[in-house]
Amino acid sequence: MSTNPAIERTQSPNWVSTRNPCKLCSPLGASLVMRGIEGAVPFLHGSQGCATYMRRYIISHFREPMDIAASGFSEASTIFGGGPNLRQGLTNVAAQYKPALIGIATTCLTETIGEDLGLMLHEYRNSEEGREAPELVHVSTPSYSGTHMEGFHAAVRAVVEQLAEPGAEATAYARGFVNLFPGMVSASDLRHLKEIMRDFELPVTLFPDYSETLDAPVLDRYMKLPSGGTPIPSLRATASALSSVEFGRTLRGKKTAASHLESSFGVPAHRIGMPVGARESDVFFRALEEISGRPTPAIYAAERGRLMDAYVDGHKYVFGKRAIVFGDEDLVVGLAALLAEIGISPVLCASGGTSGAFVQAIEEVTADCPVPVVARDNMDFMSMGEIARDLAPDFMIGSSKGARLARELGVPLIRAGFPVHDRFGGQRILHLGYRGAQQLFDLVVNTLLERKQNSSPIGYSYL
Ligand code: SF4
Repeated sequence: MSTNPAIERTQSPNWVSTRNPCKLCSPLGASLVMRGIEGAVPFLHGSQGCATYMRRYIISHFREPMDIAASGFSEASTIFGGGPNLRQGLTNVAAQYKPALIGIATTCLTETIGEDLGLMLHEYRNSEEGREAPELVHVSTPSYSGTHMEGFHAAVRAVVEQLAEPGAEATAYARGFVNLFPGMVSASDLRHLKEIMRDFELPVTLFPDYSETLDAPVLDRYMKLPSGGTPIPSLRATASALSSVEFGRTLRGKKTAASHLESSFGVPAHRIGMPVGARESDVFFRALEEISGRPTPAIYAAERGRLMDAYVDGHKYVFGKRAIVFGDEDLVVGLAALLAEIGISPVLCASGGTSGAFVQAIEEVTADCPVPVVARDNMDFMSMGEIARDLAPDFMIGSSKGARLARELGVPLIRAGFPVHDRFGGQRILHLGYRGAQQLFDLVVNTLLERKQNSSPIGYSYL
């Protein structure tokens, strides 16, 4: 028998090669970030097929057009290099879209053959000197060494590293300004965050902001570049902000946009968990109180009060129940925190992520959980199923990718996170703040009530 656990696993009689990974591809996360910049076009240096796969996932979740340009690798460019394709692609995109910025991410193929994207873009800029050209930012996103979340965070960091600059114009623009890096959340979450910041009277640079570009009002005609997104001058000004707030317990200690602004420009960073549930939201609101010097606005104090009232009213339905939580690492940590505080045991917390910080983060937020919690990263749905069968869950919570496993286990699946492509309105699921916790709590309670009602021979109509 091999001493390599990966080889040992594949030699198991139960091994099947179709695993359905609990993650997506790295440049997909980067493309989402680029769509959250005003006037930007996401661009993949790689094959057309990669762009098509990512567009399919993003469109089915957001139900909005999502253009991703590609340099369109062929056999010849794989052998001789993709420089000419990249130059031609950038020139075409600049002519067709007239974008303010092109955000370029690499793919598995271009990383494998060692394309030096930074050098290629430097040469391209030199060749375009004197002509009006869009801003170019780039990020390295080999999917074989990271998930869509690594791609997302790498793109946020790359954009800030390449655009942020101290300067007179930026300082004037950014006085009293807060950078907010929320991670990969829904369009509704982004709108709610802007509302919270407005009510705290804190000007904010929210990045990325795809709340309009990927959840727009109906239009009379197709717009090549949807309105909305973080303005480029605001991104340049991030270096002069009063403070940065960054969500993600699994990001602590890692190089991120907030850590870059802190170490390079002295912008203090508040690096906190994703505010899902009352306790994690309390940490966020306390951070805003500290930055603004103001108490939490009455509207949010009232929302918290109603949430506590709902927790009391619904406790008898949820206490002692068992859940499987899966998806993006920081969302799973937030959802586990919410479940733990309402008396539900998140018996399996699983993610395809590989940050190395996931298990500890789950332990932190479920420390007072009376039942053992299994936390696993780098997971696929086949492995999750092998563990889940012995855990007697009452429900699952996560993306649509868990639908098949939920069906096998005979438990309901509450849709949350990304992608939600077997239900409608995935982009409008609210996860964050007291309001998001309230909506998730109601969903959880009603899912448990419906299950009880449907499985009862009596057919209760009063529960
Ligand atoms: S080849 Fe790599 S970059 Fe392209 S879709 Fe597949 S995982 Fe993503």
